[in-house]
Amino acid sequence: MKVGIVGAGMVGSAAGYALALRGGASEIVLIDHNEKLAIAQAEDIAHAVPFAHACVVGAGGYEELEGAGVVILAAGVAQKPGESRLSLLSRNAEVFSEVIAQVRRNAPDAILLIASNPVDIMTEVALRASGLPRERVIGSGTILDTARFRSLLGTHLGIAPQSVHAYVLGEHGDSEVLAWSAARAGSEPIARFAVQVGAPITGEIRERIDAGVRRAAYRIIEGKGATWYGIGAGLARIVQAIRDDQRTVLSVSIVTPEVEGVQDVALSLPRIVGRAGILTTLMPELAEGEAAALRASAELLKETGAGLR
Ligand code: ADP
Repeated sequence: MKVGIVGAGMVGSAAGYALALRGGASEIVLIDHNEKLAIAQAEDIAHAVPFAHACVVGAGGYEELEGAGVVILAAGVAQKPGESRLSLLSRNAEVFSEVIAQVRRNAPDAILLIASNPVDIMTEVALRASGLPRERVIGSGTILDTARFRSLLGTHLGIAPQSVHAYVLGEHGDSEVLAWSAARAGSEPIARFAVQVGAPITGEIRERIDAGVRRAAYRIIEGKGATWYGIGAGLARIVQAIRDDQRTVLSVSIVTPEVEGVQDVALSLPRIVGRAGILTTLMPELAEGEAAALRASAELLKETGAGLR
């Protein structure tokens, strides 16, 4: 499958690199309004191909997107000094409308995979600008937060993260909700499993894991200015679920008709991902506090999205 990537900065190029290493695409096209950057990133990634899987990596204009099955949108502009978050958001929304018109013209059948932040709001913007059905405009959402949650739980329990089923819901950001009450290890509720393996989840452990998930991006940004490898790999994982019609359950963001009483808001829930995009959304059974936190997260996103219109 041909995969387009618009925005060949750190996130876009990391997604391309991860796709090349995983064998997630037969062809990768990088597009950026900084053409030199797109060409350089494509050449650099292409040099990894002999050590990985067959894949043609190139850069070009939007016409090169013809036949793409997925187009990743990782374009964005940087915050100007003193600029408000909302002003930055509306500039990014403008970039998206321009980019999406071009993508739709050249790759009308492509699923859009949104990576630009704030990803939930940009997913809503992309849906509106594209006119596509909601299940074909997918934001990376909390895919990475969920991976981190599973990994920290796995480490605590001494088991593989693949045997932990736990999701981070809502906004990809401060208001996200760790769905502890729905978490399972094997087929057991997480607390019962933890007691059986002699590693009970105390309040302190819970707080540590919560902070480990919630503060991860802040810690990385403090050390290196931005994050890109983790999200690049997450994007490649979503592409593969689509390409191979894997029907994998992943926590990703789409505009959702109703969540905890809030209508038409983009946020993350566990969803079945396959060739047609999002096939089904699952609503985990939540404790009262978690449901309230998810409602608050949805309301916050709804408000921010409305501020843009
Ligand atoms: P990130 O860390 O999110 O990847 P970067 O600034 O590294 O952020 O990358 C964003 C990329 O998006 C830049 O390379 C920039 O040139 C590109 N970009 C910005 N506006 C457009 C646009 N209208 N069309 C295509 N690419 C764009």
